[in-house]
This record gives sequence, C-alpha cells and structure tokens, in this order.
Amino acid sequence: MNLILLGPPGAGKGTQAKRLEAAHGIAQISTGDMLRAEVASGSPIGQQAKAIMEAGQLVPDALITEMLAKRIEAPDCAKGFILDGFPRTLAQAEALDAMLAAKGKSLDKVIELKVDDAALVARIAGRFACAKCGAGYHDTFKRPKVEGVCDVCGATEFTRRADDRAETVSARLEAYHKQTAPLLPYYAARGKLATVDGMAEMDEVTRQIEAVLAA
Ligand code: ADP
Ligand code: ADP
Ligand code: ZN
Repeated sequence: MNLILLGPPGAGKGTQAKRLEAAHGIAQISTGDMLRAEVASGSPIGQQAKAIMEAGQLVPDALITEMLAKRIEAPDCAKGFILDGFPRTLAQAEALDAMLAAKGKSLDKVIELKVDDAALVARIAGRFACAKCGAGYHDTFKRPKVEGVCDVCGATEFTRRADDRAETVSARLEAYHKQTAPLLPYYAARGKLATVDGMAEMDEVTRQIEAVLAA
C-alpha cells in the first residue's frame, strides 16, 4: 500500500504516519526528518538545506526528489510506504508519478488532513519530540504520560525544531498554500484524493483514515 499524507505544517501528518506504520507495517518516509538528519550530520545536502529550512521555505525540487528516489528503494518499503511531507510541489508530484511508473508501482490513496491555519499555529508552537526515538508530543494536546519521560522509549531528553518559531510558521503556511495546495486538484483529478477532518482529536483522525483505507 503506497500512501501520501498531504496537509499543511502541523496538520498531524507525522503523528498519523507513525500510527499507519505501526498498524500496517509500511514505512513512514518523512522528507523533513531526512533533511534534519542531513543538517545534523553537516553533510553537503544538509549544508545546502539548513538556511532554507530555517527560513520556512522549500528546498529545491531536484535535491529532494533525488533523496526520495533513493529512499523508496530501501528494503523497508517492500510492503509499501507513507509519504509524509512529500510531494510539496507539482514538479515533485510529477517526478513521483514517473518514479513509481518506472517500477511498475502506483499510489493507492492521497489523504488530505484539513486543518485551519489558526489551529496550525497552536499545534506548531507546542510541538516537541523525544530526542532518542522521535516520538511526537504537544505541550497541550499530547503530554507524556509521566512528565519528562518518553512514553515509547523512556528517554528524558526532548527537542524542539528550529523552524517551529512563530516567525517562521507564517512563511511555511504561505509556502503550503502557494506551492503545495495545487496538489489537491492534481490528485482529485486522478481519483486518488480523500479528505479527512484534521481538526478532530488524534484518535478520531486515525479512525477516519482507516475508514478511507477500508473503503
Ligand atoms: P512539517 O511537518 O511541519 O510540515 P517537515 O518536517 O515536513 O515540516 O518539513 C520541514 C522543512 O523541510 C520544510 O519547511 C522544508 O524547508 C523542508 N522540506 C521537507 N520536505 C520537503 C519537500 N518535499 N520539498 C521541499 N522542502 C521540503
Ligand atoms: P505535521 O507532521 O503535519 O507537521 P505533527 O504530526 O508533527 O504534524 O503534529 C503537530 C503537533 O500537533 C504535534 O505536537 C502533535 O502532537 C499535535 N497534533 C497532531 N495531531 C493532532 C490533533 N488531531 N489534535 C491536536 N493536536 C495534534
Ligand atoms: Zn522516546
């Protein structure tokens, strides 16, 4: 099963992708996580991407498409994948179509998580993650069960993203509306798009996604 989770920053793509990965044994592919790992390692890709990401803009299509093409070759993608944060432009969507066609693969569904901009700002401002396993949390909406301890791995260190500052969020929302929102009609025209109410609480969003996949 090959899926795309499409939605603005903070919509809940990462949260839901991790649940789909666990429930269906398909790989979560977060291009944002991949880029942050490149930045942390100081690689040439990371050096190119760092300032762009901190400004809330999109990295060049060629760079991200090449990264993604290698990633979907990995053995953990054999049963399928959930793309979280890719594609973000029409050029990326077209590149993905070509990549999959060349392998005799195709997309099953593109699931849009629809969330109001005002709610996104609050979600991004309160977001943090386990420094060890990457499990996602929120100051208000999803605190660890035991304060200061990761539910998943027991670690006690957490991180906040450099681009989750209020100044950057508006640039990221603008990039979404200008560059990524045109993918909605693109996939609707191909009969792939399903829209889910991303404003609902996390478990309800998961139920709605599972209902789409079962249909
Ligand atoms: P969010 O989860 O808030 O939507 P991501 O972690 O997906 O954010 O992405 C963080 C940043 O990484 C983006 O603002 C952008 O700079 C870069 N990025 C991630 N994926 C892509 C992509 N497919 N195309 C271009 N830039 C990307
Ligand atoms: P994205 O990957 O789309 O940028 P995340 O999955 O990282 O979004 O979610 C952004 C923040 O909002 C995280 O702190 C997460 O815990 C929280 N969150 C995710 N889904 C919901 C939801 N349905 N209701 C409230 N908060 C949510
Ligand atoms: Zn953890």
